[in-house]
Amino acid sequence: MTKHETESLFEPAQPEQPANHIIRVAFESGVDSEFDYLVPDKLWPVIVGQRVETPFGRSNKQEIGFCVETDINPQKVFKLKKISDLIDKEPLIDTGLMELAKWISDYYVCPLGVVLGAMVPGAVKKGAGEKKEKYVYLAFGPEQIEKILDEIKGKKQKQIVRQLKESGAYEPETAVELNDLLCEVDCTDLPVRNLADKAIIKIAQRIVLRSLPAIPEGMLIKSEKVILNDDQKNALDNIITRINTGQFGVTLLYGVTDSGKTELYIRAIDEVIKKGKSAIVLLPEIALTTQTIQRFSARFENIAIMHSGLTAPQRNTQWQKIKAGEANVVIGARSAVFAPLTNIGLIVVDEEHEPSYKQDTAPRYHGRDVAIKRAQLCSAHCILGTATPSLETLQNCQTKKNIFNMVRLPRRVMNLPFPEMRLIDMKEYPSQLTSEPLTHQLGEVLAKGEQAILLLNRRGYSNFIFCPSCKHILHCRNCDVTLTFHKSVAGFQPARISSFLTITGKHLQTGSAVCHYCGSQTLVPEKCPLCSKTMIMIGLGTQRLEEELTRKFPNAKVARVDSDSMKGPDYYRVLKDFSEGKIQILAGTQMLAKGLHFPNVTLVGIISADTSLYLPDFRSNERTFQLISQVAGRAGRSAKKGIVFVQSFLGNQPAIQFALKSDFDGFVKEELTHRRNCNLPPFWRLALITLRDRTFAKLELAAKLFREKIDRIVADEHLQIKVRGPMPATISRIQTFHRLQIILQSPQPAILHRLFSTLRKSPPIRPAVTVAIDIDPVDLL
Ligand code: ADP
Ligand code: ZN
Repeated sequence: MTKHETESLFEPAQPEQPANHIIRVAFESGVDSEFDYLVPDKLWPVIVGQRVETPFGRSNKQEIGFCVETDINPQKVFKLKKISDLIDKEPLIDTGLMELAKWISDYYVCPLGVVLGAMVPGAVKKGAGEKKEKYVYLAFGPEQIEKILDEIKGKKQKQIVRQLKESGAYEPETAVELNDLLCEVDCTDLPVRNLADKAIIKIAQRIVLRSLPAIPEGMLIKSEKVILNDDQKNALDNIITRINTGQFGVTLLYGVTDSGKTELYIRAIDEVIKKGKSAIVLLPEIALTTQTIQRFSARFENIAIMHSGLTAPQRNTQWQKIKAGEANVVIGARSAVFAPLTNIGLIVVDEEHEPSYKQDTAPRYHGRDVAIKRAQLCSAHCILGTATPSLETLQNCQTKKNIFNMVRLPRRVMNLPFPEMRLIDMKEYPSQLTSEPLTHQLGEVLAKGEQAILLLNRRGYSNFIFCPSCKHILHCRNCDVTLTFHKSVAGFQPARISSFLTITGKHLQTGSAVCHYCGSQTLVPEKCPLCSKTMIMIGLGTQRLEEELTRKFPNAKVARVDSDSMKGPDYYRVLKDFSEGKIQILAGTQMLAKGLHFPNVTLVGIISADTSLYLPDFRSNERTFQLISQVAGRAGRSAKKGIVFVQSFLGNQPAIQFALKSDFDGFVKEELTHRRNCNLPPFWRLALITLRDRTFAKLELAAKLFREKIDRIVADEHLQIKVRGPMPATISRIQTFHRLQIILQSPQPAILHRLFSTLRKSPPIRPAVTVAIDIDPVDLL
């Protein structure tokens, strides 16, 4: 792909003209308003979606911002600053995406510039993998150049012009690359410059992006088209009928794991492509495995892929490919919802219940909800697929029947049996990660040459050091979280041991307790600092699991997958090794629970089904239920029978019981009753305001004033909003920042929206503290 820069590098500067174009610019730096600027004639036209460089603030520091409007009424022209430069040759954001950005900025209470910044991958903004090449061509036509040739004195200069003439380099399109020319003529660039100064030749520059495929050729597979079963046929008919209306609508494709949902996405996309339209498929990052990508790539020719396993130049290549209209199917993680695709007919969100669709930094958008909005803005259809629908989507199917429609796939494709689920009461095996029954089963699986996946919950909550007698738990001194034991820590220096613990006695092991929020470390004391009894580790950490497995099964190859041990590309490599049988046991965080299709996996162990139940969050039941159900679908994906071990201390909790019975309807009924009684989503909407500062007194004052301001607006505008707080966040301190929260509950999002639009217009709270607003939060931690 090549972008042309039209202006010649050595052209004399135009005299500056008085500017009379005004544009509005939104900055990525986080100010929640836009600014107007004059555009000098030589930089005009500027198009909405292009980035410009402008002086900003009192110091006139150069900042880059997005042009968001171009027909601004020239009122206070005399006060406006001029833009200094135009960054992009083509707009990065088209009008459709600009509209979406404005909606996100509005709905998620986030500065427009921040939203726009998040829409374009960093690799694109930085031009990763792009090379600037200088090109040379003649400034005159064939006849004139003959005459000019006679007048040129320099031998090399003459040679250069002849060479260009022979190559027919009369236009930018036929220009010769400068380096090639210099080689050909065997000279330095001095004679070239001389010719350019005399305006006999022109030197232009163009940006060349090396084309990098996201999938190596050898990895492409062939796939035969399967014959749909009756459930699939009905579901597909239903979806196609709705696609054919050419109107916006949402289908919830509620189908158990392996019911053939992915096959239906592919058929629906086929249908859309036949109509000359395009499609986006969103998957949780972790489900974007080689296998999934191969499946889509085998069926679609012009596919672009966007996920974090790609290198920056690859990401740029993929994005440019979409932008250039060379892809009609985009498959990617959350941010692929912003793919610069045009003419969209379908957006698919697989695993729509997955909380990782919510971004945890500004803009705090939900990928699924933005997908629905984007589909609405381009009158496209949206398919939400899952085996465990979110309560929000179920509720939408109940209350917005004109838009949301539910289609079910109740059976597994090959009518494979669901794996056997076995609950293990861990009270019988308190000091082990893998209970005796699980260990025994692992041994059998390995003996048969089959494979196993073992899951631990989120690392930060799953591992702590605690005193069984006085219940004292080691906490971080900077953050209000428990410390996690790590046997080896890169860069660990004993001299930097923190002093907040009275360390008595010898050290249990050479290792350290690490805070996963701020990274601070301390040695682990053998005795409890409070009561001097021996401390133990409720060690559910992935590191310990890996060790225990290696000890119990010295001949098996065990791989650990968690965010400590790997970045994107490593993760993809481990999965590949696992699928090729080079690894027998895969142990990792719950990111492994989804999207994996490994026929040889006959055992899945959930090391602790309880960890999310301990979280003081209103969604903890839902998460627990989803985890167990997802896992149930991972084992036994072939004729071989699968078994799932669910280890728990709280086995009689309803969420666990319903999940073991695969009773989704029963779970939903009970959970919805609870949510309704507590005015929680999906019935009411939430907004979470987190204020943070290092000085608690200042934070407390700011939070109190913030609350008062909210109360005033709620009273003045008669808004039906319940306000709770300020109260300490569940994690009340992170990286020495204290955190207070205010929680807002309202029966309708529009009511919350009114509050925030008034808040945004009013002056900021003093003393100034950092405020993060999270609309429709997925957790309240
Ligand atoms: P899901 O997305 O619901 O987990 P998939 O679409 O991945 O289900 O289907 C599971 C497996 O069954 C895949 O290997 C797929 O190729 C296969 N499959 C899907 N539909 C059919 C069908 N009608 N006949 C045979 N195999 C099918
Ligand atoms: Zn910490």
